Amino acid sequence: MTQQMMTTLAQRLKTVQTQITDSAKACQRNPADILLLAVSKTQTIEAVKTVAEAGQVRFGENYLQDALPKIHSLSDAGFNLEWHYIGPIQSNKTRAIAENFQWVHSVDRLKIAQRLNKQRPLHLPPLKICIQVNIGNEPQKAGVSAEELNALATAINPLPQLELHGLMAIPPASSNTQQQHAAFAALRQLFENLPQTGTLDTLSMGMSHDLDVAIAEGATMVRVGTAIFGTRN
Ligand SMILES: *Cc1c(COP(=O)(O)O)cnc(C)c1O
Repeated sequence: MTQQMMTTLAQRLKTVQTQITDSAKACQRNPADILLLAVSKTQTIEAVKTVAEAGQVRFGENYLQDALPKIHSLSDAGFNLEWHYIGPIQSNKTRAIAENFQWVHSVDRLKIAQRLNKQRPLHLPPLKICIQVNIGNEPQKAGVSAEELNALATAINPLPQLELHGLMAIPPASSNTQQQHAAFAALRQLFENLPQTGTLDTLSMGMSHDLDVAIAEGATMVRVGTAIFGTRN
């Protein structure tokens, strides 16, 4: 990675941080209430390291095989990074996810939650999770339906090695701002109707192209890949 590329990554990170601050102020929210998750899927260890050196601590990954080398090689680098699993979860991957990540945003069925609970090492704090909701009811997309959400949350809450923090969604692709607002507002409504546990604090919504709208609708964590790392190949 050249010095030029490293400078660009640091600048893009700064631009995104500024965008979050500006969006928050525009809707009278405290910028400190919106956390930035840098989505580093498909990016190199060097790119993640550069962004970590620029001060970023939370990183999101979708593919286990792609994530583990980064997690391992950056674990002793003194950064104290926080790794969030945000991709689809296959049963045979739950153990490695439970052992290597601090957060999982994409829990959408009880069987997966039970495996994560059982496989989360006891010497680690409970795994922080969000339930992924299929907010647009799209057949090809992951996520529990709005109708089944509270039953799933109720079943997850007693699991001792999991801690439910909130909801995540990837709304239907739309360039219509009103539709974007409506989808995020719907997720927020579901969040407010969850059975209370004392740990609910996270509305994981908004990506590179719609983070302003998500912040206006109450996002507490935005997941940003392209705007920081550039286009993925
Ligand atoms: C890839 C991905 C993102 C980041 O998307 P960008 O458009 O690159 O910002 C966010 N959330 C999830 C679940 C993703 O898979």
